[in-house]
Amino acid sequence: MSDAAAAPPGAARPLDVCLSFDFDAISLWGAIGQTSPTPVSRGEFGARVAVPRLLALLAEAEVQATFFVPGHTIDTYPELCRRILAEGHEIGHHGYLHEGPVALSEGEERAVLERGLESMERQLDGYRPAGYRSPAWDLSANTTRLLVEYGFEYESSMMAQDFEPYWCRTGDRMPPDRGFEFGPEIALVELPVSWSLDDFVELEYVYAPPLVLPAAKNPREVEARWLADMDFAAEAVPGGVFTMTFHPQVIGRGARIRIVAAMIAHAVALGANLVTTAAAARAWAERAPGPIGSRLQR
Ligand SMILES: [Zn+2]
Repeated sequence: MSDAAAAPPGAARPLDVCLSFDFDAISLWGAIGQTSPTPVSRGEFGARVAVPRLLALLAEAEVQATFFVPGHTIDTYPELCRRILAEGHEIGHHGYLHEGPVALSEGEERAVLERGLESMERQLDGYRPAGYRSPAWDLSANTTRLLVEYGFEYESSMMAQDFEPYWCRTGDRMPPDRGFEFGPEIALVELPVSWSLDDFVELEYVYAPPLVLPAAKNPREVEARWLADMDFAAEAVPGGVFTMTFHPQVIGRGARIRIVAAMIAHAVALGANLVTTAAAARAWAERAPGPIGSRLQR
């Protein structure tokens, strides 16, 4: 939205701000075994009300965003997902029925990846995603290797940086009797996330033991923390990427959606670029050294 070319010569590259929306809809509730009418209706709200409301806000602000969408949501709401793409936004892979890959065998994880890809191909005119975000933000030992094999360019579930992308690794090991062993970097960009920049844990009430979220926060107080982090990223991490994770069914309910508008206005005031996560990942990869010989310090 803002124009990077407008920066004076020699000025630091402005911050990239990525608004990402995990459009879980009903899949999230199905994945935690809540399939009775009211949990289903909470997911339904995301599609009936929140996503159209968010698309209107993003269109008004002329901002392109990223929606990470499980295959189950694409198969349930194919027209809405086609509309997301038609309005210039990006769709990323987010499992099929919102499965976390941690406990899956390699074969099971391949099946979930393929089921999600097949939903996109079938429902979205052959669409192929550039990015993956793990449901519940955790990966198996095989995930990064599989993502490269399936042609993904970036991943967005880990937290080794706050506002700077980095190269993913494969083959990490944690022996019990000596230090951690880092595997080699691979050609997969990590766009880091954080639980401190996620609306679900802050604002959504869930009672599904062992998962219990009181989420009785004041939205204005949460917004102030998120904006303070955006300010920090702009000041302290030149050329960094600020990735915010929203869920339509959380942030699109009532006045909470005004937080999204406030974050867009704040990003514009900072001179940041509001871009999709794919655009931010590609821009970083272009100026970063390759996986071999990376400048990253461990
Ligand atoms: Zn999700």
